[in-house]
Amino acid sequence: MNIKNCQDSVNWILANRLLINDHNVIVINTKTSLIAGAFGINSTIWPINAKGIILINFDYLSERHFTEKEIQFILAHEIAHIYKNHSLNTLMWNIIERLLKNLDYNTPILVEIFKGFLEILSPGNLPYNAEELKNNEYEADLIALNYVTGDLRNAISCLQKLSSGDLNSPSHSWELFNLDLPAMTLKKRIEVLKERYYSFRTI
Ligand SMILES: [Zn+2]
Repeated sequence: MNIKNCQDSVNWILANRLLINDHNVIVINTKTSLIAGAFGINSTIWPINAKGIILINFDYLSERHFTEKEIQFILAHEIAHIYKNHSLNTLMWNIIERLLKNLDYNTPILVEIFKGFLEILSPGNLPYNAEELKNNEYEADLIALNYVTGDLRNAISCLQKLSSGDLNSPSHSWELFNLDLPAMTLKKRIEVLKERYYSFRTI
């Protein structure tokens, strides 16, 4: 498998699993510390089509012997973020982060006030939309499993490999100044995926 296959796989998933034929979703091979990520929109307003970028650290995944099916699960997860327009939530957090970082130069007091608000609104010092951001991850996992791979065992082995042997390692983390913003662990993602998958089956 190579990056070209990843693009083919993304095209196939969009057309055959999510029924989106007309799109501009591009897969880019990234060599950063990021393993995978996506940004894009799924427009339902004609003539604007679905657009997005999927970043995938293909070398990292090959070196760690991720199977073709596990890579497909990762790609499907990223496509799901675009399909469900999750980028809007992420964007909101990023905008706040940028804004506060710029503000910090001129008006550090405003930043302190915002931090105070964050602590009141979310005692765990999480982003104000942390629950939504976490749910986006769980939803993307479930869509990848239910709509695309249909293989729970494969999804779990993929998430296990992403944890590099420590299931308590964070799947995502958010950083904002000196605030500690833990996201979910991979263990939690596996638990939620199993739970939602089985309840989906029994409906
Ligand atoms: Zn994700």
